[in-house]
Amino acid sequence: MTTTSPDLLQIVEAVRARRRFVLSSHARPDGDSIGSQLAMAYALQAMGKAAVVVNSDAAAAPLLAFPGVRDIRIAPAIDGDFDAAIIMECGDLKRTGVAGLERFFVVNIDHHPGNTGYGNINWFDATAAACAELVHELVRALGVPLTRQIATHIYLAILTDTGSFHYSSISPRTFEICRECLEAGVDPVMVARNVYDSNNMGRLKLFGAVLGAMQIADSGRIAIVYVDHEMARAAGGTYEDTEGLVNLPLTVKEIEAVVFFKQEKGDEYRVSLRSKGEIDVGVIAKEYGGGGHKNAAGCTITGPIEELQKALIEKLEGAIDGRPADR
Ligand code: AMP
Ligand code: MN
Repeated sequence: MTTTSPDLLQIVEAVRARRRFVLSSHARPDGDSIGSQLAMAYALQAMGKAAVVVNSDAAAAPLLAFPGVRDIRIAPAIDGDFDAAIIMECGDLKRTGVAGLERFFVVNIDHHPGNTGYGNINWFDATAAACAELVHELVRALGVPLTRQIATHIYLAILTDTGSFHYSSISPRTFEICRECLEAGVDPVMVARNVYDSNNMGRLKLFGAVLGAMQIADSGRIAIVYVDHEMARAAGGTYEDTEGLVNLPLTVKEIEAVVFFKQEKGDEYRVSLRSKGEIDVGVIAKEYGGGGHKNAAGCTITGPIEELQKALIEKLEGAIDGRPADR
């Protein structure tokens, strides 16, 4: 890194001048939100500061194996007083699902395109493959040694947010940080096994049922995957168990994009989008009030499933052909 962001310098000053921190990230936290928050919490503690992590939802079961994850407080609102709130991975403050954070001095650290700049300090870098790349730079700038615990969370965040090093957001910086993490004692085999190889049988059966019912668009380039509560129950799995499923159709050479519909209630669906290379699904998710990145994005939409499928296939075909999405 040759230049240091002025926002980063402001954050360093703000952190040095304060003592009690609350950290938060988005609802249904993923590896990057958990890793970024805990890496930062451990760095603050190493500086002799108090750091509490508060999330609206618990982490998925495979992430519970990592240090500190079980100590994260799960609450719909902030209880207690803090000198600052550090929010990571959130395009806007509402994404936390935690009420009351706006009462504090807010530091906003994020890499999602379209971040609204809701903080008192905003450090936003859409070129970062994971928010934890920014946390790594901050930890360095604060002069905190990269301990194995901190490095493990940074590596966890990068591994998961790059889709196991599949997304086009990866840069030389990504590998430079991972190299430092390994030198700090991170065991990449342990991290990968905990994240990807610690599931239950219900999940595997549910994957079988959902992939068995998968549809392919006429062009042969788009996979449409669907799950509802009934399918999950019949397979002996839960919705949480479908984490990661959306990526599997992309392992087929011809498949360029995937849309995954998860029925919430009635006509309401949580939609996950994935793509290869330059196909931008983040723009599509944003059109539907969601967000995300070029190769991984999501939104919640309501309507008859056949119509929603037709509309999304059309948008994805357009994105694959390089037609700009309507805004
Ligand atoms: P998911 O498909 O839920 O794994 O989400 C993929 C990516 O899209 C993640 O980086 C999320 O943070 C982002 N994302 C998902 N849903 C939303 C949303 N409603 N608003 C903004 N970003 C989202
Ligand atoms: Mn992220």
